[in-house]
Amino acid sequence: MTTTAEDLQSIRDNVRALCKDFPDTYWRETDSQAAYPQDFVKALTESGYLAVLIPEEYGGSGLGITEAGIILEEINSSGGNSGACHAQMYTMGTLLRHGSEEQKRRYLPAIAKGELRLQAFAVTEPNAGSETTRIETRAVRKGDRYIVNGQKIFISRAQQSDLMLLLARTTPYNDVQDKTQGISVFLVDMREVKGNLQIRPLNLMVNHHTNTIFFEDVDIPASSLIGEEGKGFRYIIDGWNAERILVASEAIGDGHWFVERASSYACERLVFGRPIGANQGVQFPIAKAYAHVQAADLMRFDAAAKFDRKEKCGAEANLAKLLASEASWEAADVCLTTYGGYGFARDYDVERKFRETRLLTVAPVSNNLILAFLGQNVLKMPKSY
Ligand SMILES: Cc1cc2nc3c(=O)[nH]c(=O)nc-3n(C[C@H](O)[C@H](O)[C@H](O)COP(=O)(O)OP(=O)(O)OC[C@H]3O[C@@H](n4cnc5c(N)ncnc54)[C@H](O)[C@@H]3O)c2cc1C
Repeated sequence: MTTTAEDLQSIRDNVRALCKDFPDTYWRETDSQAAYPQDFVKALTESGYLAVLIPEEYGGSGLGITEAGIILEEINSSGGNSGACHAQMYTMGTLLRHGSEEQKRRYLPAIAKGELRLQAFAVTEPNAGSETTRIETRAVRKGDRYIVNGQKIFISRAQQSDLMLLLARTTPYNDVQDKTQGISVFLVDMREVKGNLQIRPLNLMVNHHTNTIFFEDVDIPASSLIGEEGKGFRYIIDGWNAERILVASEAIGDGHWFVERASSYACERLVFGRPIGANQGVQFPIAKAYAHVQAADLMRFDAAAKFDRKEKCGAEANLAKLLASEASWEAADVCLTTYGGYGFARDYDVERKFRETRLLTVAPVSNNLILAFLGQNVLKMPKSY
């Protein structure tokens, strides 16, 4: 399906209009109460914007990463936090690309309608960290079931989701020569699991509903397996470019929010009898942050266009994630400085967005790992780890 520039603008305008119903005060209160922005996610789901990547035959709009990115960007540039629901866009891709027709028919239409939530993606573990192949959570096949034991950490929205995409070892690390083998992906219906699945919230600096999850003899049907057993690492890698482009889009939205707030405040705030923005020491850092956000935005659209044309885009997706998250963090820092002491006052929302955008340099993948990808795979330097 081809989308014209007018279509993109119309998506932008519609999401912007939807976000107007969820002003700064909504996000501020949600954050201060560590609450889940349920009403916002409901409105976004009902509008169909959370299902844009689901093909039309399964009830979605069948649009591309460009459109999905614009939606997340607009949420963040409105002052909101698309981290509350973005995983549904990322994780659905694994089901779509590698799930069986039966699994797709069973889940995708219900996800598109908002009857089922696929908001949780369980990869990270305490003893593995960025080295995903070191995960220790085991899924052992017993007849038509798998028994899962292990622990995941930093798993967001597990309590706000019906389904969880789970990465687990079906063959132990030491028993495989190629360490990327022996890892499998499961689509776990958390409403139906048997055994002991414990979800314990973590107390973090961002309102991300993030948890530690303990699996003790958790019994799931073998039909939860996505694709072939042992090939799951490849399936997850297939989703990385989309994830990186979407995260870059969120960062671009944040970057625009910070630049807009900083430049407006710099015009309004009078000190020494003139607007603080009349001082180059205040004005130039804002202008520089703006330039960096705009440059990263070009990279994001380049990556998204290649992705949507089904061209190779690993380099572009990684560049976009790196540049956009760094540009938004720079803009956040500059915005906070521009607001002076008021930047620390919760009522101005700068400190909240500052915390939220900082996350994007670390999760879902740390920028160091992005640099390692660029150094090794694009610039062909030796592997650094
Ligand atoms: C709010 C939040 C939400 C999250 N949500 C989820 C989620 O829903 N699902 C999920 O699976 N995970 C989630 N995560 C986890 C996140 O993806 C990881 O925190 C991230 O990938 C980094 O892993 P780590 O924390 O174990 O860091 P580590 O791997 O311990 O790394 C620590 C630091 O060392 C650096 N480092 C490590 N190895 C190298 C190397 N070889 N070269 C250079 N630098 C290196 C890293 O870049 C990082 O800066 C979330 C995290 C947070 C904070």
